[in-house]
This record gives sequence, structure tokens and C-alpha cells, in this order.
Amino acid sequence: MPATNAQKLKYIASLVAQCQKCSLYKTATNPVPGDGSPEAQIVFIGEAPGAEEDKQGLPFVGNSGKLLTKLLDTINVQRQDVFICNILKHRPPENRDPLPEEIKVCTPYLKAQLEIIKPKVIITLGRYSMNYFFPEESISRNHGQIRKLVWQGIDLTIIPVYHPSAGLRNGSMLTALKTDFLKIGEFLAKPIINSEAKKLKLF
Ligand code: URA
Repeated sequence: MPATNAQKLKYIASLVAQCQKCSLYKTATNPVPGDGSPEAQIVFIGEAPGAEEDKQGLPFVGNSGKLLTKLLDTINVQRQDVFICNILKHRPPENRDPLPEEIKVCTPYLKAQLEIIKPKVIITLGRYSMNYFFPEESISRNHGQIRKLVWQGIDLTIIPVYHPSAGLRNGSMLTALKTDFLKIGEFLAKPIINSEAKKLKLF
């Protein structure tokens, strides 16, 4: 019997739990592979686990996560219906920025997760996850833009937004985040209508 997405994601999580490809496992308490629906149409990708995520082994459960949950509420999206994960699967000490070598060795896990889930929409939270798909782009210039990308044979819509932690530190970034989430909400409302219309052969 073919494995389900849930089983495949569990296997990836078990690989993350054993991973020693960089030194972060030595200082981390728990791996944070990702969490949410294995059948999600929308995946949110952050940067790396923080202190609370490291403690619980779950993504976005600290202050940034609380803001993310509030932003999701504004567009009527439930956390259990999406998949949430990070570029790095172990916490960097003192929440320092991810190093290029850590990104290089860790992102094959993210790639595998996305190839299993095959989401339609990816919301990148902050510059590290945006740069994974668009290495040349800048978050201050490109946040809120709706991008199409065929990635590993998957048709994706990618919408970069500021990281919620930036919104917690800076009022104008919080305003930008709220505006970008409203755009995401409008975008999510559309394809459903369009695909229903297509099924009914309305155009
Ligand atoms: N910041 C991130 O980028 N990811 C988390 O999971 C929590 C905070």
C-alpha cells in the first residue's frame, strides 16, 4: 500500500531528529521539523525555531507564532489546515541568523516536505525563506507580491511577507504584514471561485 503524506512527513521528521549534518543539533533541545496538515494547500515557511519552538518541538509557538495565528485569523485560515515549517529545523544558538552552510545542509528536508505536500501556495515569512526561492530578491522591495514559479515540477504561487518577529519590533512592518495578509486572503478567495467556475465550464 502506498505511504500517505502523513507517513512520508513522519519519516522526514525522523531523519531531522537524527540529523548531524551541522552542529545545531548539539545545542538544540528538540528538532522542529514542521507541523500542520499533510494535505495542506498552503505552506508557511519561516526562518528557524526560536526558544519556545525549541522547547516544544513545534514551529511558531512563541510570540511570533501568536502574531502569525492572529494574522491567519484575519483571513479565516486555521492553523490546522496549513503546514508550517522553517528553513532550519534546529534552533541556532541565541536565535542568531542561519549560516549559509546550515541552510545548504538543512534545506533538502524542506525540499522533501514540499515535494510530499505539493502545496499550491507558499507564504515565505522573512528574507531567508524568500531567498530560498528567489535568491536575488529583497524582502523590503518584494513583500506582498504574488509570484508564480514552477519549482521541482510543482506549480507554485509564492507570496513573500515580512517575518512576524519584524512586525513585533517595528510598527510600519506590522502594518505591511497586515496589508500583505489581506492580499493573501483576497488571493485565496479567488482561485477557489475560478476553479469552481472551471469545473462548471463557465469559462
Ligand atoms: N521564527 C521562525 O522563523 N520560526 C519559528 O518557528 C519561530 C520563530
